[in-house]
Formats: sequence, C-alpha cells, structure tokens
Amino acid sequence: MDAKITLLPGDGIGPDIVAETRKVLDVVAVKYGHSFSYTEQLIGGIAIDETGVALPEATLGACLNSDAVLMGSVGGPKWDDPRAKVRPEQGILGLRKGLNVFANVRPVKVFDALADASPLKSERVKGVDLIILRELTGGIYFGSPQGRDVGENGRFGYNTMIYNEVEIRRIVEIAFDLARKRRKKVTSVDKANVLATSRVWREVAQEVADENPDIEYEVVLVDAMAMYLINKPAAYDVVVTGNLFGDILSDEASMITGSLGMLPSASLGLPGTPGLYEPIHGSAPDIAGKGIANPLATILSAAMMLRSSLDLDEEAMAMETAVSQVLAAGHRTADIAKSGEKTVGTTAMGDLVIEALG
Ligand code: NAD
Repeated sequence: MDAKITLLPGDGIGPDIVAETRKVLDVVAVKYGHSFSYTEQLIGGIAIDETGVALPEATLGACLNSDAVLMGSVGGPKWDDPRAKVRPEQGILGLRKGLNVFANVRPVKVFDALADASPLKSERVKGVDLIILRELTGGIYFGSPQGRDVGENGRFGYNTMIYNEVEIRRIVEIAFDLARKRRKKVTSVDKANVLATSRVWREVAQEVADENPDIEYEVVLVDAMAMYLINKPAAYDVVVTGNLFGDILSDEASMITGSLGMLPSASLGLPGTPGLYEPIHGSAPDIAGKGIANPLATILSAAMMLRSSLDLDEEAMAMETAVSQVLAAGHRTADIAKSGEKTVGTTAMGDLVIEALG
C-alpha cells in the first residue's frame, strides 16, 4: 500500500515522540511491503511563532490531502498568556473542524505489566480494555443559542444541548463497528431520565442496536457510569456517549491506567476521510528537550491509524504486541517506572519497540 501521512509534531515533547513513531512506522512499512510518504507541517505554538496562526492554511491543506494525520502535542508556557489572541489550542480545534472528525475514540487498556501503576487496586484493573467513544462536534458545546445576558436576577449564562438523529446514528454506528472487531459489547451512556436530548439519543441508539443483533447492547445513565468505571471497569468494551458526558468520562477512564504517557486516541469522520491520531497527553513542557518523554502513546496512536485509516489490521496488531512485549520485558520510561527502577529515554524506547517488531 502507498499511504500519505501528514505529521504534525507541534510543541514541547511533540517533535521527539513523533520522530520515534515515524521510525517505528518506517520499520513496519519495510517489514510488510508498504510505502508511507510523510509531509511534516506546523501546528500550535511553533506555527504561531513562524506564521502568526495556530493552524496555517498549508497545514490544513496537507491534512485534507492525506490518508491520515498523526499529531504530537501543542501548547506550552510560552503561549499561555491569557490575553493572547492566538492560542495553540486553536490549532487542534480548527483541525478537528476542518477534518470534520465527529468521533473521538479513546482506548483505555491496562497492560498487565503496568497494572500496579493504577490508582485503583490492581485486581480491579487487570484486563481492562475499553474504548470511550465520544461525539465530538455536536451537543451542548456547539448548540445554539448559547451566550450570556443580564436579567432581573443579574447575570445569566445559557447553552443548548441538542442532537439530531443523523448525528446520533453515525456515532452509534461507529460504536457497533468497533465492537464487532473487539469483544462485541456496546454500552450507550445518557441521562434519559432527565434530558429530552438523551431520550432521542436512546431511541436512535436502540434502533441501531436492533440492526446489529450480533452485538450485546446496554444503556447506562451517566451518573451510574461514573461509578461503574471505578467499580468494574473490566466489564466494558465500547462505551458510546455525547460530547459533554464523553469529555468527562474519557478523562475519568484515562486515570484507570495511571499512565498518561501510554494512552492513544483517534478522531474519525466519515469513511474515506482522513482520521486524526494523537496521544491524549499534552506537550509536557516540564520534560521537553530532555529526551525522556514516553513515545508509546504516540506509537499506539499510529497503530490505531494503521487499523482505522489504512485498514492494516495485522500491522497495527504487530505494533501493539511489540509495545506489550517491551513492557513485559521490564523496560520503562521515567513516567511509568517505579522508584528505583532502571529507565530508558525516548529514543531507546523507540529502538526497543523496533527490536520487538523483529
Ligand atoms: P501534560 O499532559 O503535558 O503533562 C502532565 C504531566 O504528565 C507532566 O508532568 C508531564 O511531564 C507528564 N507527561 C505527559 N506526557 C508524557 C509523556 N509522553 N512522557 C512522560 N511524561 C509525560 O499536561 P499539562 O502539563 O497540563 O499541559 C502542558 C501543555 O500541553 C499545556 O500547554 C496544555 O494546554 C497542553 N495540552 C495539549 C494537549 C494536546 O496537544 N492535545 C492536550 C493536553 C494539554
């Protein structure tokens, strides 16, 4: 296969972790007889410094013209002035909008070798392997009207939570597609006992469930889900929900692993359009330039890219297995090491994954 991949290293540790991931992708390409061509573009703080905007037109153009986009991270103290008109985060939001990616896929997998890094008891987190699938472009974050005003009781603010059945159906269908390649269970999370939006969500989700009888399906209220994620996280496979609930639950779920440097993500649009793949962590300015960042979340994001955007299941699995093997062999970057444990740097970790790929 010939694939065009846009790389957006960004700020802080971004360039280091993206460089390691590219190294790993190159080895996968050779091993499996593919050709990956890369275009590297600016985003975030570095784009502001060089062009005055966080998402230059050339960047969006290259992304739209590629099969998939792999991003590092953006932001840092240099661009944190709250009075600044241009901010690195505008780069990510603009890119999501420009690519029309409406489905945010966040896998939470506890590697056996890292089970004791979780703040939860290790027997509770062993075997956790779930996905939080969050609707990304609708719901209360975008609903109109929204704003603020002054009334007889002083200042007030308002937002609108709204979902139509097209938006609900397309994200729930992705949940069933994902589940079919996994443990075949979908959990839809809503607040149908209180919210009219959620009652429409539940109706449409049930219709999609009826069309997919091979997949086990359940609904859970969001408040209960917040508890179950702590209480019995291993019970879930694909959890699908709207923008607001997904924002909160995906961050809660990411804490189950206790290792930010291990968590990948994907943001997907309609079939055939480029997906956006990135680690969930930020630019880690406290360790930028030190050569100690953990590249595994980005390498695992690239594995998701191979599976979801390039349809290379076997290659994706090989990358994920290589990461598991490196961890099982006891190799750790500083962020996932226990005190006193020997650590390796960013480049050495990339090399170890390549070695495990054979
Ligand atoms: P962060 O995720 O960058 O860092 C939190 C902590 O985790 C830090 O101690 C950091 O050193 C550590 N860490 C994160 N990733 C790591 C890795 N791969 N290897 C080793 N250690 C790692 O969050 P923050 O400090 O709150 O934010 C820093 C900057 O990143 C801010 O400007 C923020 O706006 C931005 N940010 C960007 C994204 C993104 O690009 N998608 C996401 C979150 C935060």
